[in-house]
Amino acid sequence: MRRSLDLVVTSVATQLMEATAATATQVSEAVLAQLVEQFDVDASFLRHHDNDIRAWVLVAEWPRRTNVPDPDPQAVIHFTSADPVLTQCEQSRKPVVVGAELPSRSLWRRMSAGRQDGASSVAAAPLVSRGATIGVLGFVKFGARRWKQEEINTLEAVAALFAQLQARIAAEEKLRYLAEHDDLTGLYNRRALIAHLSERLAPSSPGPVAVLYLDLDRLKPINDYLGHTAGDWFIRVFAQRIRACAGQSMIARLGGDEFVVVPDQSMSAATAEAFARRLGAMLRERLAIGGHMITRSVSIGLATGTPGRDNSTDLLRRADEAVLTAKRGGGNQVAVSTDDMSLKSAFRNDIELHLQGDIDSEALLLHYLPEVDLWTGAIVAAEALVRWRHPIWGLLLPDSFIGIAESTNLAGELGQWVMRSACAEFSRWRANGVGQSAVLRINVSPVQLITRGFVRSVADTIEEFGLDGASICLEITERAVVHDIETTRNTLHELKEVGVQIAIDDFGSGYAVLSHLKSLPVDILKIDAGFVRDLGTNAGDLAIVRAIIGLAEAFGLQLVAEGVETPAAAQTLMQHGCHRAQGFLLSKPVPGNAMEALLAARWMPLPFLADRPTLSAGAV
Ligand code: C2E
Ligand code: CA
Ligand code: CA
Repeated sequence: MRRSLDLVVTSVATQLMEATAATATQVSEAVLAQLVEQFDVDASFLRHHDNDIRAWVLVAEWPRRTNVPDPDPQAVIHFTSADPVLTQCEQSRKPVVVGAELPSRSLWRRMSAGRQDGASSVAAAPLVSRGATIGVLGFVKFGARRWKQEEINTLEAVAALFAQLQARIAAEEKLRYLAEHDDLTGLYNRRALIAHLSERLAPSSPGPVAVLYLDLDRLKPINDYLGHTAGDWFIRVFAQRIRACAGQSMIARLGGDEFVVVPDQSMSAATAEAFARRLGAMLRERLAIGGHMITRSVSIGLATGTPGRDNSTDLLRRADEAVLTAKRGGGNQVAVSTDDMSLKSAFRNDIELHLQGDIDSEALLLHYLPEVDLWTGAIVAAEALVRWRHPIWGLLLPDSFIGIAESTNLAGELGQWVMRSACAEFSRWRANGVGQSAVLRINVSPVQLITRGFVRSVADTIEEFGLDGASICLEITERAVVHDIETTRNTLHELKEVGVQIAIDDFGSGYAVLSHLKSLPVDILKIDAGFVRDLGTNAGDLAIVRAIIGLAEAFGLQLVAEGVETPAAAQTLMQHGCHRAQGFLLSKPVPGNAMEALLAARWMPLPFLADRPTLSAGAV
């Protein structure tokens, strides 16, 4: 139904006023549909000026063309190739009406292709804002049409409304851009970053979400010596470089020389850390600034967050804390957030990444735990315990990396390093006349035990350092023995031929090795510390320890108690017949030179055992 043209303008004004950036295209199309009906024409179009690419870009049309090829050849019409109608529109700033047959190049002719007559009538009005043409609104009738002046007036009025809408949306987008971006670099700002992180951390979004907090090392000298303009320039170039290196990420500048990169893919802490290292390496390249070649390394703090669990500000704070750690560590490095959860996985990844490289370096070392005869105080053995001096995490105990070594095929290499280093050191002590009757105990991982060539390498190492097999004892955890009993039995028999002693470590800790004990060539049982710690107060533990003592007697095995921490435990052990022990009551693990000193002294005072208990009946 046709309405009066005044009503048409009012209706269009109402509809366009409510349009937003998100709905503008849809609303425009609806308005075009109404106008096509109103003017009784065949087609309509709305195009915007894009000055960057110097072209008219199609925003909406009605009716939609069918069978549009991809890419749509009409989507973008460059100024240079534009139809005369568009050119006229631009120049006149007034509505243009073309009623007759159009030149063959004509866009309108193409639109009417397939129609026999080939003649069209076009009325188009420029969208004018602040004196400049910013778009065009046009209507096409296939065939001749006469445009009344009031229709042209209406067209002009509607074009003005479209121009307003376009200008308003452009202003809104500009405002939004300014609200979300940093003006020095054009990167996102803190507010946009927080909004983005909140979205990424929403429950059931894919995770983990990695956050890399970048802090330029030593920017201040650039500002101080080259001036703030140079400093700003440097930051801008640096921002471009981050963009080039981390394109697929949300990148924000939080002011100063602090940037945040949030990879758009969810990624594990391991992947994120590898990414952070790559990024750090790429960003370190030199830049020319004011005639100077400048290299600025960057410290990176990494934190990962779990959707539905972490919130954006906490995640950002953790990354910020981590970057402080990286800076404190001297800069030019990646530090991982110390949040407990993310710490564990990041830590694991770091270990995986670096253990391999560190096995042959100075980073690994051995401490020794003396084993003492509680009756005499004599030091009868030294157990080698591996440690890893890690550049970021400090001195690591084996529990934090042995498991990882075992799951990444590094256990063999690590074990061999321990074996060689322990034997080398022990043989030096021996050469100094120390520890002649003591035994060196070396822990062997279950993986090593079933590795081909293991027995051979043990034999070679012992020979290389001139040691006799009987002075070496390999400790194997109970769990390993049970895991692959056939292979283990064979390997242990071969080891006995080499002459080394064999101990079952952590004995009693829950894996039923008992049934196999008879068939395995074992010399020593080490009572698991878990049964020893509370001896003297825990009757249940005492019952187990007594059973183990009985077992050792039955099989003719030696016994050592681990984890003796109190005089009560030591006394209880002695009372029931176990007189060899290790534990913090006697000594903590000590460096090699301290162990050598202990062996040289041959015995240690045991003042806490001043009144030795009397042996109970049946004790060894
Ligand atoms: P483990 O063989 O049972 O070694 C004894 C562990 O108990 C040592 O911990 C020692 O420091 C600790 N310990 C000794 N006395 C006490 C005590 O009175 N109280 C407490 N709370 N702890 C005590 P460490 O050095 O952290 O070693 C842990 C485990 O790592 C070892 O347990 C052993 O299974 C493994 N390990 C150590 N070095 C090596 C190695 O070179 N190769 C392999 N495969 N495993 C190793
Ligand atoms: Ca051990
Ligand atoms: Ca143990």
